[in-house]
Parts: sequence; C-alpha cells; structure tokens
Amino acid sequence: MQGRVIKSTGSWYMVQTASGLVKSRLRGKFKQDNLKLTNPIAVGDYVEVVQEADLPTWTIDEILPRENYIIRKSTRKIHFSHIIASNIDQAYLIITIRNPRTSLGFIDRFLVSTESFRIPATIIVNKMDLVEKEKDLEYLQDIHEIYELLGYPVIEISATTESGLKEKFLPLLKGKTTLMSGHSGVGKSTLLNKLIPEAAQETKEISKFSAKGVHTTTFAEMFALEQGGYLIDTPGIKEFGILDIDDFELSHYFPEMRQYLGQCKYNNCRHLNEPGCMVLEKLEEGYIHPYRYDSYVNILHEEDDHR
Ligand code: GDP
Ligand code: ZN
Repeated sequence: MQGRVIKSTGSWYMVQTASGLVKSRLRGKFKQDNLKLTNPIAVGDYVEVVQEADLPTWTIDEILPRENYIIRKSTRKIHFSHIIASNIDQAYLIITIRNPRTSLGFIDRFLVSTESFRIPATIIVNKMDLVEKEKDLEYLQDIHEIYELLGYPVIEISATTESGLKEKFLPLLKGKTTLMSGHSGVGKSTLLNKLIPEAAQETKEISKFSAKGVHTTTFAEMFALEQGGYLIDTPGIKEFGILDIDDFELSHYFPEMRQYLGQCKYNNCRHLNEPGCMVLEKLEEGYIHPYRYDSYVNILHEEDDHR
C-alpha cells in the first residue's frame, strides 16, 4: 500500500494512506542504504508500506523517488545531513516588519536555499496590523520592490486580525505541499493555530518536551489542510543548509545575476573586484539591487568561514 510520511519521531513514522493513518517503522536494511544521511526517511516522502504478519504494525518497504528535498547539515555528525522534508511544492517564508524586524540578509539566505533546492518561494509579511510608522512602511515598500521584481510574490497578512488570511494566504495553499519557515516570533504557531487548531496544541507539547532537554532533535511535521494540501512546519529549524554551495555556484541562486553569468571576462569570476565582471557592471548600472549584492557578498564570506 502506498502512503505519505506526515510525521516522524526518528523511530516511528506516521504514514497517511488511502485507508487512514498507519504507524510504521523501517526495516533495518534501509538504514544502511543511505550512509550520508542521519535520517533515511523524512516528512513528505511517498512510501510503500506493508503490514507485518500477525502484528498491528506496518513496515516501510520502499521510498518512491523524491521530487525534491531540503536538508540541513547534521549538527552532531560531520559529513552527515538531515533531511527536513521532501516533495515540496512551495516555500512560504514568514517575515515581519516589526516585533521583530526580519533582515533582508535573512530573507536572501532563505531564498538562496530555496533556489538551490528548486522550490518556488513566497514572502509572507505577517503582523501587518503593526505596520504604521513611516520607516516601517518604507521597509515594506523596499521588500515589495526588491522581491516582486525577482519573481517572489510578497503577500501581506495579519494572523491576529486575520486580514489577508482567507483572501490571500489560504487560496495559495490549496492542494499543495507548502513548507512554512521563518524566525522565531514571527507568528508561525499563531498562523498554524488559525488554520489547523489541533496542530498548534501538538507543537506546544513538543516544545515543552524540548525544554527539558529530553528531545533535542527537531523534526518537521506535516499537517493536512481541510481544503486539501499540506502545510509543513519546521519548528526549531533556523536555517536550511546552504553550506556546500561553492563560490562560483552561489551567483546562480541569485536570479538577477544568473542571466549575466556567462558574460564575465573570467570563467571563475566571483564578482567581487575582478576586471571585466558583468555582474559588477550591471550593479553599477542599477540592474542589480545594492542590498541584494551586499547579501551575495556576505553569504560568500560566511560560507568561506565555514570551510
Ligand atoms: P512563532 O515563534 O513564529 O511560532 O511565533 P508565535 O506564533 O509564537 O507569535 C509570536 C508573538 O507574536 C505572539 O505573542 C503572537 O500573539 C504575536 N503575533 C502573531 N501574529 C501576529 C500578528 O499578526 N499581529 C500581531 N500584532 N501579533 C502577532
Ligand atoms: Zn563577475
């Protein structure tokens, strides 16, 4: 029987099948097949499950090929990665202008990740009820101008007043598998609670558990939406892996730079100060936003620091 993994504890997997949810585990041999991964199965995976003879439990027998997935470097084991989720249609980055203000640098790092995983991203501006002051409105305007031009939709909502939720936020989720991410405090749990009340309760219990230091690994969880589709919450996961992107690859994940890449004088141009650099020329001419270029340079240097 086929199904989809919607929750994982590391030893048990809840699999949604046509005939309901089944609690499954992995066959031992599975674990050795994926040596570089700390978890061979992730939320979002389509799997084949079989019922064990004379037992009420199920076994995952096979993973179907993944369309895409996002990973994070394992914090405990070097050279190992942790798959956060797979088969994702789109990513929602929840940001706020106030309380707290999400930086453009953070947004850009997120977008580099989603570009590298080939997942379309949308920027959701939550807590719009708090945006009144002129400097906040200007920041909001900058966000619209910078990101919409690059093809990332920017949607304004307020989880508290529910403005924009039914009209803009929900319709885009229908029938899709959406990954939701963002800094802590931007309103992810509040949103989840509005959309799926039972989900928020569960999230709370998980965080209580983690506070005791008992359960340190965070697992993503996928929630079925009433209207069809799934929302994946990534509690405690601050950032997805953009490590391992080499210097020459990074600019490919900036859509506004991508188009000029073959045109630099040197093949191995890092677009920093090389002569005949087309990216620098376009920056000068105003085709590349200076904030975005700053983010590019920052990410390049941070990644260097990790080596
Ligand atoms: P999370 O860490 O991303 O899950 O954020 P929470 O959902 O816990 O929200 C953090 C705080 O922001 C809570 O006090 C929420 O009540 C508040 N909050 C969430 N959404 C909104 C909103 O749209 N407007 C306002 N003013 N506060 C909000
Ligand atoms: Zn260049």
